[in-house]
Amino acid sequence: MEAAERWRASAGEIEAWMDRAVDMAKDALENGEVPVGCLMVYNNEIVGKGRNEVNETKNATRHAEMVAIDQVLDWCQQHKKQPEEVFTHTVLYVTVEPCIMCAAALRIMKIPLVVYGCQNERFGGCGSVLNISSATLTDTGEPFQCIAGYRSEEAVEMLKTFYRQENPNAPKSKVRKKEFSK
Ligand SMILES: [Zn+2]
Repeated sequence: MEAAERWRASAGEIEAWMDRAVDMAKDALENGEVPVGCLMVYNNEIVGKGRNEVNETKNATRHAEMVAIDQVLDWCQQHKKQPEEVFTHTVLYVTVEPCIMCAAALRIMKIPLVVYGCQNERFGGCGSVLNISSATLTDTGEPFQCIAGYRSEEAVEMLKTFYRQENPNAPKSKVRKKEFSK
């Protein structure tokens, strides 16, 4: 709880970083990926960023957050910093609520605060489907605090645009198409 108290981002900071995250989500959309973009900010510096790369890499785990975590690990190595010291002082800005997988990864890395845009109604791990962010899971890292709703309308619009398009790498499933063709 103490950690959560210390990690308050100001509205101005949030708007500036979310702006960058939205740009990354747009880049994902333009490249045929699920439009999710994120940044990891440590000491007012971007130490990792990512956008969804699942189609490009043909690897279902390459969500924006996982890409960003790997970049932070590289940054730690380059700057000879302990990952735990960096991650426990890093804020994640992401356009969409992290999914269950990513929320668990963020707990394991001990990120204290996640600022996100819209809800992830299908896979959300911060309340929409499961509440991995705040659950009592003694062997899975630390719970983290969430601030939701920044730029959520744009984030939703991008997701809708993506799912309206044909995704050439998606499994052929009528159920899936129907669900997404709102
Ligand atoms: Zn995810």
